[in-house]
Amino acid sequence: MFSTEIQHFIVNKKYPNFSPKAVFFDMDGVLFDSMKYHSWAWVKAFELKGIPFTEYECYLNEGRTGASTIDGVYMQQFNRVATEEEKKSLYHSKSNLFEQSGKTEEMPFALELLLKLKSQHFQIFLVTGSGQPTLLDSLNVSFPNIFNKNNMVTAFDVTEGKPHPEPYLKALKKSGLQPWEVVVVENAPLGVESAKAAGLFVLAVNTGVLEDKILIDSGADIVFDTIKELFEKWDYFRANF
Ligand code: CA
Repeated sequence: MFSTEIQHFIVNKKYPNFSPKAVFFDMDGVLFDSMKYHSWAWVKAFELKGIPFTEYECYLNEGRTGASTIDGVYMQQFNRVATEEEKKSLYHSKSNLFEQSGKTEEMPFALELLLKLKSQHFQIFLVTGSGQPTLLDSLNVSFPNIFNKNNMVTAFDVTEGKPHPEPYLKALKKSGLQPWEVVVVENAPLGVESAKAAGLFVLAVNTGVLEDKILIDSGADIVFDTIKELFEKWDYFRANF
């Protein structure tokens, strides 16, 4: 199980081997079951401005910065990017709606997976486009003693968001590891593209509304349906390296 995908990765990248020592986690849609609230807030914020935007489009854009998402929609609708004022107003509205929508829900089996990896002595990193000021606090409530400033790359650390490779390259640098020593867990097509552009092996977890094919076309090495499935199959995967 999984040896074909790993061999393909090594040969394709001309890497000496595949020997993961760290797992890089995306956050929304991977550790937190938060994408349904983000997409609801985006759709609603655009609707308040009379601009059509669907939940499906939101999942396709997942991983982009807020500004980049807004510009994309404005280009499509009005053939121009949004003004700073428009961006500020829309993003503010979206953030408020998201906060109102509520509570933080951990993805089922995310904690179990993190604890399993920790017990197997893997380094764990967070690579997210999120820039919530309270991010570290919520991470520590849901996943105690896993994340700290030294193993996180957030919106504050990068100039280019996903799908640019910068977030994953930054994490790679922080870890001090080689690209064949890392496994990425991502749920969004642009997140997968970002990690692949950084030369990394990607386990995609299709926790949203998109078809598996979109994740495969983005370059995902293996696609799982849920974090639970990844948790259950992790040891089979690990047996190959
Ligand atoms: Ca995500």
